[in-house]
Amino acid sequence: METKPKLAMYWAASCGGCEIALVNIHEKIFDVMDSFDFMFCPCLMDTKYHDIEALADGSIAITFFNGALRTDENIHMARLLRQKSQLLIAFGSCAAEGCIPGLGNLSSRQDLMDRIYRDSLTLDDHQGPLPATSTGVVEGNLTLPEFLPVVKTLGQVVAVDYSIPGCPPESHQVWNCVNAVIQGHPLGAKGAILGGGRSTVCAECVRTRTEKKIRTLYRTYEILPDAETCLLEQGLLCMGVVTRDGCGGLCPRVNMPCTGCYGPPEGVLDQGAKMISALGSMLDLEDAGEVNVDDYARRMDVLLEGIPDLAGTLYKYSLAGSILGGKRTP
Ligand code: SF4
Repeated sequence: METKPKLAMYWAASCGGCEIALVNIHEKIFDVMDSFDFMFCPCLMDTKYHDIEALADGSIAITFFNGALRTDENIHMARLLRQKSQLLIAFGSCAAEGCIPGLGNLSSRQDLMDRIYRDSLTLDDHQGPLPATSTGVVEGNLTLPEFLPVVKTLGQVVAVDYSIPGCPPESHQVWNCVNAVIQGHPLGAKGAILGGGRSTVCAECVRTRTEKKIRTLYRTYEILPDAETCLLEQGLLCMGVVTRDGCGGLCPRVNMPCTGCYGPPEGVLDQGAKMISALGSMLDLEDAGEVNVDDYARRMDVLLEGIPDLAGTLYKYSLAGSILGGKRTP
């Protein structure tokens, strides 16, 4: 009997949106099934870890790995799937950059535990047991994976062959990548970004732009923006200027600023730092006459006061993989 190449999809710290992005290729999923033995996907099937451990090294043709690495179980699976896979692809923003789970790096492990299990208003018992790697109960001993001090990206732990950006990746881009493999087309140099462009979201945004000069930043509920004009020019913090294209500019099309989920564009190392730099050059100083550095810094502070959660806005998806990385306290 003809054996098909094996395809795996694993989730670590993620929300499940990446799996939805895969099934959102609709009937083309049958082409995937025709071409691959889709043999591991915890959200869809009951393959056990020991089934993966029993495979020969390199026997999975492609693994789509979504999710950031938050626990020692995530790290174990990243290493295991690296060993068993010919191609390991960081699928989606969490695996590639840390995404929303990566914002946990702004807090210590203890802060996070206290917030969730001690201080949350919805708790009945504020003094209950905290999750632990081993907890004795009447029935025996319960074990959990260790919650690590910092969230890591997949590429910070194992070698990654390719990355597909997005939170989640756009399904047409997922299909472009999968179809390229099915058709035997080259995927590009190792380490390449698949399913994304080389420019910014602005390049595929349909809004009209003039000169960007910003005096005030607004939160999305504070103004009803004009439907045709660049959102950043209207004072909404649109990350499109520092975000890789490839999504089709979906958010600005529906009057929402881009939040940056496709990650930094080609040549940009740190998305948040690049946005701060971009804002600096857009600050409206026209009425200021001669402006000294202190005045400029004060005006920049005033502008940024319009963003209550600066790190969570500028590094919403990229903190764990950024130069900043987060507050790395144990
Ligand atoms: Fe760029 Fe956003 Fe302005 Fe569109 S709305 S041109 S994506 S900054």
